[in-house]
Amino acid sequence: MPSLLQKPPPQIGGVERTAYDASRGKAAAAARGYFGDDFTHHFCGLGPSPGPLINRGQHVRVAAVGSICEQFLAATRGHDAQIVSIGAGFDTRFWQLSATGEAPRLFVELDQPLIVARKSAIIAEQPALLAALPEGAACVGAESVASERYQLRAADVRDSAQLGKALADAGWDADRPTLVLLECVLVYLPPEEAVAVLTWFSQRSARVVLAGYEQIKPGDAFGRTMLENLRRRDCPLLGLPACPELASQVARCHAAGYARAEALDLLTYHGTVIAQAERARTASLELLDEVEEWQMLMQHYCVMMAVRDVPETPMFETLSLQAPVSRPFPVSSTPLAHGRQAALHRPVSPPL
Ligand code: SAH
Repeated sequence: MPSLLQKPPPQIGGVERTAYDASRGKAAAAARGYFGDDFTHHFCGLGPSPGPLINRGQHVRVAAVGSICEQFLAATRGHDAQIVSIGAGFDTRFWQLSATGEAPRLFVELDQPLIVARKSAIIAEQPALLAALPEGAACVGAESVASERYQLRAADVRDSAQLGKALADAGWDADRPTLVLLECVLVYLPPEEAVAVLTWFSQRSARVVLAGYEQIKPGDAFGRTMLENLRRRDCPLLGLPACPELASQVARCHAAGYARAEALDLLTYHGTVIAQAERARTASLELLDEVEEWQMLMQHYCVMMAVRDVPETPMFETLSLQAPVSRPFPVSSTPLAHGRQAALHRPVSPPL
């Protein structure tokens, strides 16, 4: 069935357009069996496979962010946890969690108005997506989705007044534990605005976990090409020069009020955190010739976790970026349910 997403409308450009790239990248890797995802195909048309280099990168990204999410939900069971996704794009985590009965009390997605309008329109026409929203209580409008557990709101998060209003309208509660998902978004913001997003949460809530994923290392030849490619596509990595290394990722979180922070590049994450059996499984899916390119690519992306907790009654003590991952999360019961195996391979730009 043709999807509304197959071609981004011309008025969606620049950084917003990267939501389409992210969604297509995840759909392609899911279709190849790298991880389960029964929902992304509702949001985007499946194009030619980007090949093992990119698909394996998506696997590590999904496994890493998913592991933090899984650990957060386990640590907050019974505490009415909340997840806030900043720059959510067409991410499907809410539906994944609903399908397995693990959705938190509240899941809020924020993005720019044009992306939110497209996502709302797609949700409104897809019974499989509507099914996760409680009947009668959901309001799927042209510019937002408001339901008891799931809220999709427009906000430019560079403006903290907009961020605050959208979260208040969504029913976000500063007194309950929150996981903030920052998957490929802070890197597009000017440095001071990225820090302001992190600080916004730490100044209001005593228990916050951050899960981040984005580019690093702009200074070498690969990094310079990465910066230039995205600048040419009109989505410059404005935040990268100020936060270029793992250590700067950690320092930024500390400075923003998070007592504990960790960051790993994706190559290290793949080699040391993902279980050997899972590495072997993904390696068997597609032959990867370009090992050096893959290593280079993985070294230019990182995953970050930061924690702000109540020291007297800690909830997040056991959370760790290094907690072993045997399978990416969430795992679908039918990993290849919509697995149209695209035969074509063509090089594409790195996952966004
Ligand atoms: N997190 C999603 C999408 C990543 S693409 C995923 O991983 O699949 C980056 C997203 O950030 C885009 O949807 C873009 O519109 C959003 N974004 C970038 N700058 C933003 C801003 N200032 N306010 C709100 N959203 C923003």
